[in-house]
Amino acid sequence: MAKRVRLLVAIDGPAGAGKSTVARRVAERLGYVLVDTGALYRCVALAASRAGFTPHGELSEDDELAIGDLAKELAAGRQIQLEPSGRVVLDGEDVSRAIRSPEMSLGASRVSAIPRVREALLSMQRQAGEHGGAVMEGRDIGTVVFPDAEAKFFLTASAEQRAGRRHAELLEKGSAVTFDETLADVRRRDTADTDRPVAPLRQADDAVLVDSSTMAIDDVVDVIVREVRAREAQS
Ligand code: C5P
Repeated sequence: MAKRVRLLVAIDGPAGAGKSTVARRVAERLGYVLVDTGALYRCVALAASRAGFTPHGELSEDDELAIGDLAKELAAGRQIQLEPSGRVVLDGEDVSRAIRSPEMSLGASRVSAIPRVREALLSMQRQAGEHGGAVMEGRDIGTVVFPDAEAKFFLTASAEQRAGRRHAELLEKGSAVTFDETLADVRRRDTADTDRPVAPLRQADDAVLVDSSTMAIDDVVDVIVREVRAREAQS
């Protein structure tokens, strides 16, 4: 029997479209590794916050330069590890929960607009996917990190749907945030991610658009897995 080819699957899209869940399940079904690139930006935000910066608040130009250097150090020292279990380790510490707070969501969005930060994380991301057999989840995988990825998807949903999902997740974690606050946060991040000059969020020309507003997550996973299998067979 011919050995199955293992492709590079890019899943991009805005916050809260169900990307994390979908990417995890797609990776499980295909037997591929999952690379959550947002976690890298979240780790930079957390490291910056611990170094005394306020990535979710005001950042001066000097702060941005310093955070760029910090990201380069983290990358060079391999201080961020994305474990196959989904655990995220920063400098030896399990930060899987700490990076998911609303402050770090906003902080990650802010630091991700700093060109030096994106540059620092680029080679890490390319190394993670270079051998194929990976599902990479992010914002610019199909456009910047792996423009030649064999299977690209752009997963989206309405802002209200996405805020609803995120709100439910936050409540489950014990947060007292309201739906309106969550919706405002989703919109703020959409604007920041779409309008930034470096690697703005946009659908790659050759990406398959999947709108999860009216689809169950299981169906979204099925659509993507089927498409990847078809492309594996063609390769
Ligand atoms: O996907 P997640 O919500 O964890 O990403 C956190 C932030 O990191 C996003 O709001 C986005 O600004 C940024 N990001 C990015 N490029 C990626 C992944 C995430 O700019 N490939």
